[in-house]
Amino acid sequence: MSGKFNIDDLIKLSSFEVSASEKAGYEKEIDDFLKYAEIINSADCNDLTPSAHPTESSAKMRMDNQVEWDDLERILINAPVRDKSAYLVPPQKARPGEEKESASTAIIAGSHDEYEAVIGLEVHAHLKTKSKLFCSCPTEFGSEPNHNTCPVCNGHPGVLPVLNHEAVRMAILSGLALNCKINKKSVFARKNYFYPDLPKGYQISQFEEPICSGGFVEIDDNGKPLAIKLNRIHMEEDAGKMVHVGAPGIWGSKASAVDFNRTSVPLIEIVTEPDIKCAKHAKDYVIMLRSVLVQLGICDGNLEEGSLRCDANISIRKVGETKLGTKTEVKNMNSFKAIEKAIEFEIERQIVLKKTGKAIIQETRLWDENSQKTFSMRSKEESHDYRYFPDPDLLPIILDEDYIEELKEFVPEYPLKKKYTYMNIYNLSEEQSLLLINNSAFTAYFDKLVSIYKDHKNASNWFFNELISYTNDLKDIHISPENFVEFLGKIDSDEISGKIAKEVLKKSFETKRALVEIIEKDGYKQITDEKELKKMIDDVISANPAQVAEYKGGKEKLFSFFVGEMMKKTKGKANPAIVNTLLKNGLTS
Ligand code: ADP
Ligand code: MG
Ligand code: ZN
Repeated sequence: MSGKFNIDDLIKLSSFEVSASEKAGYEKEIDDFLKYAEIINSADCNDLTPSAHPTESSAKMRMDNQVEWDDLERILINAPVRDKSAYLVPPQKARPGEEKESASTAIIAGSHDEYEAVIGLEVHAHLKTKSKLFCSCPTEFGSEPNHNTCPVCNGHPGVLPVLNHEAVRMAILSGLALNCKINKKSVFARKNYFYPDLPKGYQISQFEEPICSGGFVEIDDNGKPLAIKLNRIHMEEDAGKMVHVGAPGIWGSKASAVDFNRTSVPLIEIVTEPDIKCAKHAKDYVIMLRSVLVQLGICDGNLEEGSLRCDANISIRKVGETKLGTKTEVKNMNSFKAIEKAIEFEIERQIVLKKTGKAIIQETRLWDENSQKTFSMRSKEESHDYRYFPDPDLLPIILDEDYIEELKEFVPEYPLKKKYTYMNIYNLSEEQSLLLINNSAFTAYFDKLVSIYKDHKNASNWFFNELISYTNDLKDIHISPENFVEFLGKIDSDEISGKIAKEVLKKSFETKRALVEIIEKDGYKQITDEKELKKMIDDVISANPAQVAEYKGGKEKLFSFFVGEMMKKTKGKANPAIVNTLLKNGLTS
């Protein structure tokens, strides 16, 4: 074949300097290419039809015929009702079709034990960077609509994305904390679809080469850790946000506006394998995952504001089967409880469909908090529908081993381990332990507290019943753990009573003054001076002759009356032990 072209002439024409080995390489490449061309040349192409192409292969253009789309109803499912030139916006609570659907999900009595659920979760977490993923716009939640925007995140022509280093760092941290393999090379891809909240017409995401692969999240299963397998963690940009006028959602709204503030805010998406067996485990998984991300300081974890969003993929199958059933994807769950409820509902719905011989359709469904049901939103696309391809505007992320190693030291102790420590060593309840592991400032404060104060039970009582009843913001609190321990010490040494201590704490939160200063300067210190107390006891005794006589006559219960009088007199500041001894002496003499 090489006889058909002269490599030396080609090299001469190119006027490049080419070494002998390069020459051999080029010769082979051209040779291969020509061989391939010959194969194509000799192929019989007459009955080769493209598999997914609507036009005839013989004509690369179609005829000018009008054809109506036969599934228009589905596309226009969310459109408001039209009357001539105006939209009718009735106070519609849900989209049409709801009734039909709920009727079909009437609960069937009896055991459902023959079916098991298979659940896979996709969690989107907003990364707490200052600026967006590909431009320098602020990421703050709650700014004026469309004020955190620029030509890049609004998809104007000619602009180019520039990757935010901090977002990459945070994504790696998440992978390290969740036992993933951190990929040395990952690639951004365009995910193409239309929606008004997506100005570019594509979302920059990662597809074939995500930043992290594999990994697992451990949850508690009756006192033992259970690993939920992860498929991947990838980075992507968020879309904008639709704001519906006159209704909480698109259904029944008068108009919809779009706010691009959220467009291109960095996200990581954490995807599990279909490895979760029940709604409770799914909820626990999100709680644990949230805790990891929050403790890492890379996400606020606010389900209501949407900085953490969970989509649940759910299918059922007969117990013992290994093949996966058709799944539905449920969105719009804004709390841990909603995640559990929505999944429970969806499993039940699917089982009822199966048992009544109806088909489960692959689709996206929305959880509705009001009716505690899921509703069909749209038939679900397959990933190849998005025509993913590597984004030509962005280079692959190439990571250095040393950099990954450096980040390992920022990974905190795994929260499940911490939760067990809190429950088993410090005897906290499950609820208290969860409260701690879900708030990094709480954890830091509590850990410090019990490390410098021996009586753990007393420390946790004061922490949970008093301190955090005043504030959730322990990061900027004016009472350091050391201050708090000093304060507890004053109760322990009887300088102040527990009751007074609560008053002092309240005052400290009202005035932001130091606890010890309030005790010393505002006269909260216990009266321990025996002479002073003796004088007051004498006064109490001489002011209540009748009670003294009764007490002396054998009514010993009256002792507490005298203690009460002393406390009244001293506004609770008398040292109870000293008062006890002095009173006993005074009343018997
Ligand atoms: P899609 O392309 O529809 O998003 P993926 O294959 O990316 O689907 O999977 C998305 C999530 O759904 C993953 O968490 C995966 O584990 C889960 N999943 C996939 N198939 C099923 C199934 N049949 N039942 C339950 N979950 C599933
Ligand atoms: Mg999906
Ligand atoms: Zn921007």
